[in-house]
Formats: sequence, C-alpha cells, structure tokens
Amino acid sequence: MISFSNEIKNPYTELDKSIGGRFADNPATNACKLCAPLGASLVFKGIENCVPLIHGSQGCATYIRRYLISHFREPMDIASSSFAESSTIFGGAENFNAGIDNIISQYTPDVVGVCTSCLSETIGEDPGMLLGEYRSSRKDRELPAFINVATPSYSGNHMDGFNATVKAAVRCLCENGGGASCEMLNIFPGLVSPADMRYLKEILDDFGIDYMMLPDYSESLDSPTWDEYHKLPPGGTPRKRITQAASARASLQFGRVLGGNSRDSIGAGEWLEKQFKIKCLKPGMPIGIKESDIFFKTLETLSGKPMPEKYKNERGRLIDSYIDGHKYLFGKRAIIFGEEDFVVGMTALLSEIGVHPVVCGSGGESPHFADAINAVAGDAIKNFPEPPIIVNGADFESLLELALETRPDFLIGNSKGYYISRQMNLPLIRCGFPVHDRIGAQRLLHLGYRGAQQLFDAITNAVLEYNQDNSPMGYKYM
Ligand code: SF4
Repeated sequence: MISFSNEIKNPYTELDKSIGGRFADNPATNACKLCAPLGASLVFKGIENCVPLIHGSQGCATYIRRYLISHFREPMDIASSSFAESSTIFGGAENFNAGIDNIISQYTPDVVGVCTSCLSETIGEDPGMLLGEYRSSRKDRELPAFINVATPSYSGNHMDGFNATVKAAVRCLCENGGGASCEMLNIFPGLVSPADMRYLKEILDDFGIDYMMLPDYSESLDSPTWDEYHKLPPGGTPRKRITQAASARASLQFGRVLGGNSRDSIGAGEWLEKQFKIKCLKPGMPIGIKESDIFFKTLETLSGKPMPEKYKNERGRLIDSYIDGHKYLFGKRAIIFGEEDFVVGMTALLSEIGVHPVVCGSGGESPHFADAINAVAGDAIKNFPEPPIIVNGADFESLLELALETRPDFLIGNSKGYYISRQMNLPLIRCGFPVHDRIGAQRLLHLGYRGAQQLFDAITNAVLEYNQDNSPMGYKYM
C-alpha cells in the first residue's frame, strides 16, 4: 500500500466534493451501471445446473437475457414469474409457485436461484417466505436447492446484485462450518471474464491448490460447440463444493472495493470469516504487475510452493514488453470507467506503464473507491500533472463533459463508452463488461501477467493505430 506524501494532496476529498457538486443534482443520463438482478443472474449462470428465476415482470428477464447474450454470445435461459396486473396488486405467490414448478419439470436443476426485480421489491414480496411456503406445500417431492437474494435496483447496481448473490449462495448452501477442516480454498473472483476464470483455474492447478471458485461461468458462458443440445450448459460451481465453503482452509476474495453501494455490506469471504472463522484474504483484482505480484505471493504462501517457472517467464516477457512500448505510452492521458474494482485494477496497470489516468469513473457509490484508486496509483501519482478525477455515481453524460475538459488520448472500459469515443474521435479500448459491439468479450483476458500482457498490447496498438490513422503522411515502419 502506498500513501500520499505530505506534498501531494489527496485528490479524493477535493474532487469528490467538486464532482459531486457539479453533477449531484443532474439526473443520470445513460448511467455507468446496470441493474441488480442482472448481476445476480450472472452469478446463478456460474453455478452448475442452476436456473435463475427473476421474481417480477417478464420485461426485466427479457432485458437481462438480451444484455447478457450480446456480451457472452451464449444461450441464456432466465425464468421469470411473469407478473401481470393481478400479481402486482394481490401478490405474486401463485406465479412464483407455478414458475418454480415449471423450472423443475423443464430443467431438473440442482439449484434454483431466485432474485427480485424492482416491481416485486416495491410491493414488498419476500422470496424467502415464498420459498418456505413452496417447500411446505411440496413436502412429498424431492426439490432442488434454492438460493434467494433481494436485488432491488433502486438501491443497488449490478455489482451489488452480483456480490449479494455470491454471499447468498454461500449462506443458503454451505453446511455448518468444520473450522478449516478441509484443504479447499474458496476463491471469489468477482465479475471477470470466462477467460480470466479459466486462467485463474490454470494457475491454481499449477500451484496444486484444491479450490472452489464461485461463481465459475468459465465454461457455462463460453462453451465449445455441442454435438447434442443441453438444456443447461455444462460447467459452473458444483453445488456440493459450495456446501463445503464453511470448512475451507481460507477464502480469497478479489477486490479492494467490492463494488456498488456496498457501504456496509461484506463479501462472501468476509461473511464466512465472521460466521465460521474462515480466514479471508482480500487482494485487489490482479490487473497489472504489482497487483498480480500480490496475488502470486498469496498463492506461494498458501501452497508453500514457489511460483512455477511458466509464470516467472510470463512476468519477464511482460516487463520486456513494457520496456519496448514505454516510449509510445509514456505521458498519455486516459479515462477509465466501469465497475469499481475493474477501474481500480486498470488504474494500477496504467500507473505502472506511464499513462496518466485523468478520470476514474464508476456508476457505483462506494466510499472505498477513491482510497483504492489512490492506493494502487501509489508513487506514480506524484508524476501525474494533476491528480485523477475520481467520480462515484458516474453516468456517460458526466464522463463526456469530463472528457471534453481533460482531453484524454484514449478511453478504456466497456463498449458503452462508444459514443464518447465517436464524438471525440478517440480510441476506445474495449474490456470489462459489457462489450456489445465486438466479438470475443468472453475471451478477453484481464488478470495476472498474461492478462496484463494482452491489455498492454491492446492499449499500445490502439495508440499506434490512432497515430498512424491520423498521420498526414502515413507510414508503415516505426
Ligand atoms: S425494472 Fe428494475 S429490475 Fe427490471 S430491468 Fe429495470 S432496473 Fe432491472
């Protein structure tokens, strides 16, 4: 952790006020966040043989399906209890029961994940109570396991929904803790890509660590082609592994912020520590060399083994490429936007490659965001011509205003930044979530040395391409 020296003012206290003052009264236009049951559905899709049920109107489930399909390009079965006028007035219990019956008969799932929409929350539906009634009315049948989580979008965004659902999965499925009685490590990676998850699993396997990753949509949301149709795609965290979470040796929970409005909320790892005394380690999202070093050091400690040669080589090649590309990137200015922990990770990466993050914006509203940015920017912040503007509760209108003011060289974040990029003729390096206007979002790698390598190459090449495209003469050699 690197703190500010006396000469450097902490930008957070100043800028948070000024940005809050400037944008606080404006209604959000094209918010830099998504809805809470979308985050919940994503977690449910990362549990083996799990079907999500959104308790509310059909439109919410349809929007979420469409949104996720456009990013992952995979089938996305998400059920809805299909509220109509009568359920809105008299309550949705009847639809809820019929919906779960249908899911069981159509999919024979191991787990049904129930989350709520704004509508069902507004009328005060309690899915926990509804599930209790459902179970007692069907005592004669073998039922799947249930996870239920409240996800009102008016008091949280997709990261709140995501984190609350990971915690709910552990709360609903884990069996009484055996006090670190098994060798398994819980790993809660947060909202990362399927490629990131596959890479994490490869690393853990190479260290010989037994683990339970939750969620794990590395296969279910990036499947190979199938010879025969599967109603539910293979892959996901097995229910049985989640039941052991409270007996694990430790939890590894990525993220310095944990996203959204999580002012008081805690993550699944912290919950397990509180309930069952399972030690929770909380490295930042390992994006860039410094944050990845912390992650690998943690694995060395947990496994008692040194980093395998292959990762030492990845790290070495990455440093070599930093040296090669430094002259093209040093002093460039960037706007970063997306989920808070993604932005923090990207700030860590940009700060170590000589790029000045002029604006770090997220739709989340965590009070930990600015501190996390300052911590990962570290000593590099002393070399920035001005401190990064840190924006909580950002929307794309305010980001455009800030882009016009700060004149960045490029933008880095999800594809929702496209209109800023188009209006200002700036490169947009697409990564994170969602990416709707390019192919291969599920294969984008962000984490570890390999992820930093891909990001570094993509950033450098975007800058080179921009320079080349805008050169009056043109050139083919540099
Ligand atoms: S109404 Fe609420 S739950 Fe439904 S799509 Fe909109 S924000 Fe999401």
